Amino acid sequence: MNARFMGIGASPGIAMGPALVLESHQLMVNRRTLKPDRIDAEVKRFQHAITEARQELEALRVRVEEKMGEKLSHIFDAHILILDDGSFAAGTEDHIRREKVNAEWGLRSVVKDLLAQFAAIEDPYLNERGGDLEDVYRRVLGHLTGDRSHPDLSRIREDAIIVAHTLTPSDTAALNTQRVVGFVTEMGGRTSHTAIIANALEIPAVVGLHGILEQVETGDFLVVDGERGTVLVSPNTGEQETATRARTAWRQRAQDGLKTRDLPAVTTDGQAVILRSNIELPEEVETSLRYGATGIGLYRSEFLFLKCSPNLPSEEDHYKVYAEMADRVAPHPCIVRTLDLGGEKYFHEVLDREEANPVMGMRAIRLCLRRPDIFRTQLRGILRAAVGRSIQLMFPLISGVGELIRALDVLNEARDDLRREGHAVPEKLPIGIMIEVPSAAMVADLLAARVDFFSIGTNDLIQYLLAIDRGNESVAYLYEPHHPAVLRMLQRVIDAAKDAGISVSLCGEMASDPRYVPVLTGLGLRELSVNPVTIPAVKDAIRATHAGEARTLTHRLLAASSADEVGRILGGGPADDELAGNPPEA
Ligand code: PEP
Ligand code: MG
Repeated sequence: MNARFMGIGASPGIAMGPALVLESHQLMVNRRTLKPDRIDAEVKRFQHAITEARQELEALRVRVEEKMGEKLSHIFDAHILILDDGSFAAGTEDHIRREKVNAEWGLRSVVKDLLAQFAAIEDPYLNERGGDLEDVYRRVLGHLTGDRSHPDLSRIREDAIIVAHTLTPSDTAALNTQRVVGFVTEMGGRTSHTAIIANALEIPAVVGLHGILEQVETGDFLVVDGERGTVLVSPNTGEQETATRARTAWRQRAQDGLKTRDLPAVTTDGQAVILRSNIELPEEVETSLRYGATGIGLYRSEFLFLKCSPNLPSEEDHYKVYAEMADRVAPHPCIVRTLDLGGEKYFHEVLDREEANPVMGMRAIRLCLRRPDIFRTQLRGILRAAVGRSIQLMFPLISGVGELIRALDVLNEARDDLRREGHAVPEKLPIGIMIEVPSAAMVADLLAARVDFFSIGTNDLIQYLLAIDRGNESVAYLYEPHHPAVLRMLQRVIDAAKDAGISVSLCGEMASDPRYVPVLTGLGLRELSVNPVTIPAVKDAIRATHAGEARTLTHRLLAASSADEVGRILGGGPADDELAGNPPEA
């Protein structure tokens, strides 16, 4: 059956090969009632299984640290912590004694309760942490029952694309990376540990593909596109050829990327472009540096809030994350964007009521000004971390001067409070704003007088300017970064920044598309912030661009009357089908 499925691209790259379907391993656990004189021995048996599981995890931790570095090995620290947690081990012992049941049943009952608590929290990050608990449960159960049939993915000898309901972090870490060329899971999101490891191993992966186990059999030929999040089952010859070309281009780019890592991002006529990265997780600092980023241009701090949910991050949580990131990326700067929750980045505990149209609702800076308690805690963390470090602060979704003044007031209050309490505060903390609301673009000159830099967020700017919901598939064909209205608005913002003598960068996805590099350089941008893995391709495009010629090209684009016309002028630029702006066939 030739079919195409869409999930979440968790780790970029193209993988092709036969599927190896891992049946979800149902753990059979029976209940046995124990005689009172057997209970102590049963508790001992359980403690022994815990000791063995801990030894195994410690060994795995060392292996992963050697293979993938310290950061990822901490996942196994988290597993050891679960083993040591009172509600896990002591809770099970308690259950065995109280209910007079076998260890397997006691453990199962305790884990079932804990998993139900995780599942009740409407937060993808915490749901995924439930996966860690399940991983530890399976491990301990394996030691109790002697059933070690959990798949050993380190023993795979043929090239394969793993298709599974879920892959535990330890499954993923143990993968034979020579043979596992990609994987697809039904569960998981972009922030799952599995996705983080896949990225670190650079194995193309698509996650969150519900129902895929019913569509694929072991041996079916698959094409996994970890960037687009697509999986092709039994592709026809044409699709296979296209995928082969895409894979070759991808591999070549990855190779070239590492080669060009230390080359400067300079146009053929000598214009230097600063190339930084957009990240959601502190772990991505390493990838960014490996691909040659000269700083973090956008840290989306809302992911820290999702991680701490249902609690809010403390001032110390903020401080630690920002300080650590800035230290790792030094001497380059790290731009921390304050909380941009709401809209499509939902966070139920903070947003206290459902909104009919959240993208235009109480999100980002609006939410922060509504909840100064949350905002102040984050600002204090940033201010403290910025002492002696190259940290810059950026406010999202600013719509005008009044809102900016209110945000700056809270910042100044936080700074005064810290001083009064005897804390050091940075002498100079560069303050910037995202330009992603058309009203902000229209008064960019007024805003530029009050901040140190602009970062243009085209993802939102285009959505609000063209009235195209960026998450709505049915109008995606109208989401046109090269629409003349977008280009004119960009020009306006860039000019306002230049006139005021402040720096201006672009951090929307548009910057990550190398085909737009001549347009953006032509508009006068000399700073871009892009997804880490796209740095090599964007750098290549910069090194192939003549800024003077790009300027001339941009004059023509700005005078064009439609996105179609811009597309035609760009010619060899973005593919026609993506530029066409025609509704898809019904
Ligand atoms: C943007 O809107 O372009 C942007 C970078 O912010 P986010 O994608 O996080 O909304
Ligand atoms: Mg945005």
